[in-house]
Order: sequence, then structure tokens, then C-alpha cells
Amino acid sequence: MTVNRSPEDSRPHVVVVGGGLAGLAASARLADGGCRVTLLESRRRCGGRAASFEDPVAGGLVDACQHVAMGCCTNFIDLVSHAGLGDAIRRDRTLWFIGPEGHRSRCTPSAWLPAPLHLAPLLLGMRHFSWREKASLAWGMLRLARSVSSQQADAPTALEWLRHVGQPERVITLFWQPVIESALGESIDLVDVAAARKVVVDGFLAHRDAATLVVPTEPLGRLFGERFVEWLRQRGATVETSQAVTGIEWDREGRITGVTCGESRIAADAVVLAVPWKAAGRLAPDLVVSGDDHLAASPITAVHLWFDRQVIDLPHAVLVGRVSQWVFRGDEHDATDGGYCQVVISASRGLLGGDRRAVVDQVVGELRDVFPAAQHAVLREAKVVTDPTAVLSVRPGVDALRPAAVTARPNLVLAGDWTATGWPSTMEGAIRSGRMAAAAVGAVVGLPVPGVVADLPRTPLVRLVVGR
Ligand SMILES: Cc1cc2nc3c(=O)[nH]c(=O)nc-3n(C[C@H](O)[C@H](O)[C@H](O)COP(=O)(O)OP(=O)(O)OC[C@H]3O[C@@H](n4cnc5c(N)ncnc54)[C@H](O)[C@@H]3O)c2cc1C
Repeated sequence: MTVNRSPEDSRPHVVVVGGGLAGLAASARLADGGCRVTLLESRRRCGGRAASFEDPVAGGLVDACQHVAMGCCTNFIDLVSHAGLGDAIRRDRTLWFIGPEGHRSRCTPSAWLPAPLHLAPLLLGMRHFSWREKASLAWGMLRLARSVSSQQADAPTALEWLRHVGQPERVITLFWQPVIESALGESIDLVDVAAARKVVVDGFLAHRDAATLVVPTEPLGRLFGERFVEWLRQRGATVETSQAVTGIEWDREGRITGVTCGESRIAADAVVLAVPWKAAGRLAPDLVVSGDDHLAASPITAVHLWFDRQVIDLPHAVLVGRVSQWVFRGDEHDATDGGYCQVVISASRGLLGGDRRAVVDQVVGELRDVFPAAQHAVLREAKVVTDPTAVLSVRPGVDALRPAAVTARPNLVLAGDWTATGWPSTMEGAIRSGRMAAAAVGAVVGLPVPGVVADLPRTPLVRLVVGR
């Protein structure tokens, strides 16, 4: 394949390498900003880690792992809405927690109390905590919001910090651990306390809508791999799948001149490298350090279960004090039949010794403990999917290692959830990175390409409580 600059098209040609959310977001901004865009994705379908597979039982697509965003993910919501795909996400204000004894807590932030007081009903609703524990939790959230972290390699982990400020072990195990591990995809004894602070401030305290769960109602493979790509093409972008970029070319001045895909060469005025850090390190070893001792990844496991009937009577629930962390009913997707559900386990390193049968038995046993309908249901099919490099491990000091979009080569910019966005490795982080990269390319090619959209606004009371 060769994409030549067309003589009658004077728009700058930007090649985006990688069709994950970062590359898709960059392409959208660049096309909107007046660039000619060619997006090259090595797999058969765009979407990257936000991926789906063929449902072996009911047909159609099932997400390799259920993804959720939150109300604070302004760029995720904006990207989907801007592409006219707002019908493919649902907002749930209620979080269900299921305590160790099986008590259900319906936790809904207030829609009318000013932030951060809107959290009062959510905290008060946690039936598995005593009044004293609820008060400790509220105090812990406030202290964390007002904490200052050095973000250095010797900064405390979230667990060290929580113990240091005297959070009760039950509150750590039954709130902090599931919430932080689900939000950051990494274990509470490894994450930087600054990352935990971001979860609490941006995801809970900052705004009445911050903690609203934003759930895709279509398989990600359709939402991003098909509908978003179709929208991009309608905006004039060229999207090529099954095209692995094998090299980047530059001239004597160090300016990028194009990329190669095997034997083919594609000329470019600028390149956005939107691939995971190891792939970026292979393609641009002078710009990206990608050794294992540099950036580390954290695994996430999804346990897919097909029962002979519906066993989950809630749309989703956080199971605290168990191996299973989140269960999703899975009836969002028209392809799955009524008996499908999915259990997500973040930071699943060494989960039950890597024994898949044991994982299924454990998870099914836990569902039978808390969902009466599961007790007599027959399990028809099970599949355990672990992505060992699901997210960047946000350990102390990692932010200093995450590269900015702008590199030493003027017309090559980086994107990806692992780059320096200030956000953890999430869909929101990936989309922000793509938009930041697009704006940086705009500055190089002389076009006003817009970047990220603003965070949810903070009231004076929030600023007073949060301290900055
Ligand atoms: C199991 C799991 C659960 C998750 N849960 C959540 C969640 O609930 N909420 C949330 O917000 N986030 C979640 N995430 C994280 C989220 O999926 C990622 O942060 C985001 O999708 C990363 O997007 P990206 O574009 O930066 O990278 P990627 O998605 O990795 O995209 C990079 C793309 O580059 C392509 N590529 C690589 N090399 C080449 C090459 N040489 N040429 C061309 N193309 C190439 C790859 O095929 C890939 O498509 C989860 C991730 C996983 C794996």
C-alpha cells in the first residue's frame, strides 16, 4: 500500500500509527482541524485494548473486558457525543456495593446537594460500615484530597498512606481497596498515593456528576471498531486496518518524512505514534525508553460466564471483601442472551496461582453466595481473559517517566494512555493523550487543532475543601 501526497490536496498529511482510543481521538481532532489523516492499525479492527470478541454462545460481540468511564471523564463523553454516538452510553448514578455478609448497599450521590456534600448519601448508604467507620471514611477522603504528594519514587503507596493516617483496616479492605484498584487497575499496595488522590478528588469530590458511572451499551468493538471508524471516514480520514507500521523514516535534519509498512512507504508531514510503549520503543528507540525496568504494566482479568438463565438482578455491583470485584449483568449488549454476566478483577497478578478452573470455581461460588438466582443456575460456558499489560502501573515516581506528546523530533508526537496526561491509564487518559498529540501536531503544521475539553467545573466550596 502506498499513500502519496496528492498534488491537488494541499492539506498537511498526518499519519496516525495505532487505532486504539488515543489514535482514534487524535485522528478525529486532526480531521476536524483541517489535516489529511491516514490512520494505520495493525489489527483487523480498531479500538486497541477497548476490544471485543465473538460470543461463543449467543453470537455477536462480547467485550474482552467490560469498560466503564465516570462522569469526570469529560473527554470520553465528549468524543462519543461529538461523533453522534451518545446513544451508545448510559449513565448510572447508583453504585451497588455488596458487603462481605451479602448485604446490599444502594449508594447514590445527591443530585441537589452542592459538591462535595453530594457524597453524604453515598457514604451513609454503605450498610456494611458502622457509623464510626463511615465517619473515618469521610475523614480519610478529606485528608487524602488535601494531601500533597512528592510524586517521587520514594513517595508512599496508597496503602502506606492510608495506614499512616489511621484508616481502619475494614475501611481499607472494603472501600479503598476495591475503589482504588478498580479505578487504577493496580493493587493498592503498589499505586502512588497521588494517583489515589486523583481518583478521590476527580472521581468523587469535585462535582455532583463526577462519580456517575458511564457504561457503554454497545460492544466496544462495534462502538469504536465500527461506528466511530465509519464516522471518521465520513470526515475524510483514511483508516487502514491490518497495516502494521514497521519503521519511521526521517531526513538529515531529523524531520520525519514518513512511515513504512513492510515494503510500502507512506509520506507524511507529521506522525502521531499512538501505540503502547513497547511498540513505540521499537519504532522510535531514540525517543522512547521501553525496558521492563522503566514502565511496568498491571494485569486485569475478566471472567465471562454464560448461565442457563439470568442470575444477576442488578445492572452491576461492586463485591467487596471477595476475589470478584465487579460484576456486570451484560444485558447491555443485544448479542448476549439473558444468562451472560462478567466479573472483573483488577490487579490480577498471580490470581489463584493462574489456575483458570480455580478462578471460575471461586467466582461462580461467590456469585452463588450473593445472588440467589445463581444457586440453581447451570453454568453453560466460562472463559477467563487476562490482559497482562492491561494498564500502566501507576507506582510512585511513574509520572516522571511518562513522556510528553512533543518529542525531540519536531514532527513526531506521542500518544497513548501511558504518556504524560496527568491521568491514569484509562479510556479518558488515552483520549486526552490523542487530543493533546493532535493539538501539538496542529502547532507544527500551522493549523489550530483543538486539544482536550475542560474538566467538570469546581465550585468555591470544592476548591476550599480540596485545597487546590
Ligand atoms: C482488561 C482491561 C480492562 C480495562 N478497563 C478499563 C475501564 O473499565 N475503564 C477505562 O477507562 N479503561 C479501561 N482499560 C484501559 C483502556 O482500555 C486503555 O487505557 C485504552 O484503551 C488505551 O488506549 P490506547 O490507544 O492508548 O492504546 P491501545 O488500546 O493499546 O491502542 C494501541 C493500538 O496500536 C496498535 N499498534 C501497535 N503497534 C502497531 C504498529 N506497529 N502499527 C500499527 N498499529 C499498531 C495496536 O494494535 C492497538 O490497536 C482497560 C484495559 C484492559 C486491557
